[in-house]
Amino acid sequence: MQKWKENIRKIDPYVPGEQPTGKDIIKLNTNESPYAPSPSVKKVLSEYDYTGLRLYPSFVCPELKSALTENYPVNEREIFLGNGSDEVLALCFMTFFNSDKPVLFPDITYSFYDVWCSLYNIPYERVSLDSSFRFVKEDYYRENGGIVITNPNAPTSVYMELSDIEDIIRHNEDVIVIVDEAYIDFGGKSAVDLIHKYDNLVVVQTYSKSRSLAGIRVGYAFASEELINSLEAVKNSFNSYTLNSLSQAVAAASAKDKDYFNECVNKIIAAREWTVAELSKLGFETLPSKANFIFTTNRNISAEKLFNYLKSKNIYVRYFNKPRISEYLRITIGTQEQMEALIKAIKEYN
Ligand code: PMP
Repeated sequence: MQKWKENIRKIDPYVPGEQPTGKDIIKLNTNESPYAPSPSVKKVLSEYDYTGLRLYPSFVCPELKSALTENYPVNEREIFLGNGSDEVLALCFMTFFNSDKPVLFPDITYSFYDVWCSLYNIPYERVSLDSSFRFVKEDYYRENGGIVITNPNAPTSVYMELSDIEDIIRHNEDVIVIVDEAYIDFGGKSAVDLIHKYDNLVVVQTYSKSRSLAGIRVGYAFASEELINSLEAVKNSFNSYTLNSLSQAVAAASAKDKDYFNECVNKIIAAREWTVAELSKLGFETLPSKANFIFTTNRNISAEKLFNYLKSKNIYVRYFNKPRISEYLRITIGTQEQMEALIKAIKEYN
C-alpha cells in the first residue's frame, strides 16, 4: 500500500438531501422555500454592475450588516456573516468548542453537528430527547464543553419555548451555547434579544429557508462583540473573503423587503396547518411543527415504502433510516398546490 494513504484525513461527511433536476418534480426534501426570492432581488441582479466583480468583495459587508440591523435588535459589531449557516456553524464549532469536556446536543438533531465534532476532534455526547421528541432541559445542567440547541429542532420540527432555552443558557454560563435558528421564522420566537443578557450565547440564522435564498449561501450569527471578534479571527485565519459581492447585494435587498417575507412565511404556515390536518384524516401522527417542514408517521404504513412510492411519483420527501425515527418522513412545506398533490398521491397509495 502507498504510505501516503496513512496521512490522508478520513471522515464520514454530512450527506445533504438529493437535488434532483428532472422536470415536473415536487421537491419537498431539503426545506427550501417553494417561493421565489423577493422581487427586489430580481432588481438587484438585473441592475448589477458586473465589472465590479474584478474586485475582491468587502469582507466587512457594510450594506448587508446595516440591513440586518433594521430587522434585529443588534448593532453591526454583533453580527457575523458566512457562506450559509453551515459555514457559520462550522466556524463556531472551531472557535468555541476547545474543551476536553463533551459538547452536548440531542440524540436526534441536525446531523452535521457530529461531523464537525469529528472534523475538529471535539468530544461530544448526544442527550436523549424524551418520547415525544422534546428537550429535557435538566439533562443539560451538568459539566460540558458547550451546548448546541436547534430551535425548532430538525428533523423533528419541535419548538422549545424561549424560557426553557434561557434556563439552559443560565445553567451553563461557563460554556458557549449555540442556538441554531434555521427555522425560527415559521412561528417561533428568536433568542436574539438574549445576546445582550448572556455573553456566552450565539444565535445562528440563515437566508436559505424563510428568505427563499438557499442558492446564494448566506448565513449569520448574532452574539456579543467579544464572541464575534473571536469568530472573525478564526474566519480570517481560514478565508477572509467568504461572502461574494453578489450574495451580499442580494441578501441586503432581501432583508429590506419585509412585506414579501411575511407574505411567503404566512403562506407556508397556512399550507403546513392544512397538510397536518389532511394527514391526520389519513391516520398520520405529525409532531407539532413550528418549521417549514413536518415530521410525520403512520402506524399502518412503512415510512421507507411510502418514501419510495412518492419518489416514483416524482414527489421527493426525506427519509432517515436511523434509530427512533425510521418510521417517520420529513416533508418540506411547499405551495398549497404541491401539498394537495402530495395528499392526493398518499390517498392513492395502497
Ligand atoms: N441548521 C439546520 C438545522 C439546518 O437544517 C440547515 C439546513 N440543512 C442548516 C443549519 C444549514 O443551512 P444553510 O447552510 O443553507 O444556511
